[in-house]
Amino acid sequence: MNTDNSARLFSAACEIIPGGVNSPVRACKSVGCDPVFIEKASGARLWDVDGNEYLDFIGSWGPMILGHNPPEVIEAVRAAMENGTSFGAPTPLEIDLARLVVDAVPSVEKVRFVSSGTEATMSAIRLARGYTGRKVVVKFDGGYHGHADSFLVKAGSGVVTLGIPGSPGVPEDIVKNTVSIPYNNEEKLEETLRNPDLDIACVIIEPIAGNMGVVMPKPGFLEKLRSLTEELGIVLIFDEVITGFRASLGGAQARFGVTPDLTCLGKIIGGGLPVGAYGGRKDIMAHIAPEGPVYQAGTLSGNPLAMAAGKATLTALARPGFYEELDEKTAWFAKELGEIAERHLPGRTCINLAGSVLTLFFTSGPVYDFESAMTSDTDLYGRYYREMLAQGLYLAPAQFEGMFFSSAHSREDLAQALEKIEDVFRKLSAA
Ligand SMILES: *Cc1c(COP(=O)(O)O)cnc(C)c1O
Repeated sequence: MNTDNSARLFSAACEIIPGGVNSPVRACKSVGCDPVFIEKASGARLWDVDGNEYLDFIGSWGPMILGHNPPEVIEAVRAAMENGTSFGAPTPLEIDLARLVVDAVPSVEKVRFVSSGTEATMSAIRLARGYTGRKVVVKFDGGYHGHADSFLVKAGSGVVTLGIPGSPGVPEDIVKNTVSIPYNNEEKLEETLRNPDLDIACVIIEPIAGNMGVVMPKPGFLEKLRSLTEELGIVLIFDEVITGFRASLGGAQARFGVTPDLTCLGKIIGGGLPVGAYGGRKDIMAHIAPEGPVYQAGTLSGNPLAMAAGKATLTALARPGFYEELDEKTAWFAKELGEIAERHLPGRTCINLAGSVLTLFFTSGPVYDFESAMTSDTDLYGRYYREMLAQGLYLAPAQFEGMFFSSAHSREDLAQALEKIEDVFRKLSAA
């Protein structure tokens, strides 16, 4: 595979953009190669600047659940664009998208649009703190909630220890108010939430974890979290930036029947344009400015192109049978992939599947939290990644991510991919 043009562009980019990329995961460092530069996409496919074609299993890290360039979304954005791209004033499209979100997501009675998932989560914890008058944020090891200071606490820091900044530039004064505990551990959860020395405003959780690889909540874990937070007057925030409109139209909360107080959304909600949102109980949302005193604003929030893309996307997702079909296709692929992996690397891999996302971990498993995920052989993942790319299969350049499926992936696409994957595993086992 010739990637000369990508190589040239990457070295040009490195001169004027830190690391050559505008988001660190794109740099492919952890899998031992340089990124390919993408020229265009259509359906389930991408083409790079050297003309190589790929079957895309990233889907822009989640948003492209309809595949790339779905005609109804492109048409909606084009129509909106002809009326102007930004007004800094209210538009009817904001109400249309808000209505779709409120109708779909059980916890959301009122919603505020922002421009990214990070903005949604940082605003949601500000709101939780403003509403409760308390300080501490509880999160889970391996949970990612965007790059705001409060969330950059090194995973694995013990319960009730002061947070240690996971990045230079984050003051300890800020992260001392963040406590990170293991996912799926009811005992640690209860011990932390009942600790009288902690002034806990909120708990934020990915109801299906997606940033330590895909990890399902153990049966009863979310229910326990809900009943404890309710009893203790702690605001429960579901970060559904990945799972929103992915785990079901109503997200993971609809799938599991557990309703948080606040919900953060992103990725799919913008249909490939920059949108985030946070919403929830009316009485809590009433604290947001200008209705209440908790300040949060955005020049491009509710941008008409982004609202149009979101509206067209959510409308398409509401089609009966959409999720059943997508989940069933993904489950079939997961089963086939698992059989191939087991045939060539017996006992050395495990698959976690959640609806239309899966992670193939290079560890015997089971993977149920950050620590168990960390037992994965990331060097082997790196080799797997490079072999897959050479076969035209475009994966996340990191072990602890998901493989995202869309309605544009046909059974034929996937069957052909499985044949190539068999070859990849043959090579991995031979080495
Ligand atoms: C991607 C992601 C975010 C951050 O969203 P951005 O739009 O990248 O700022 C937050 N939470 C979760 C669970 C995510 O996967």
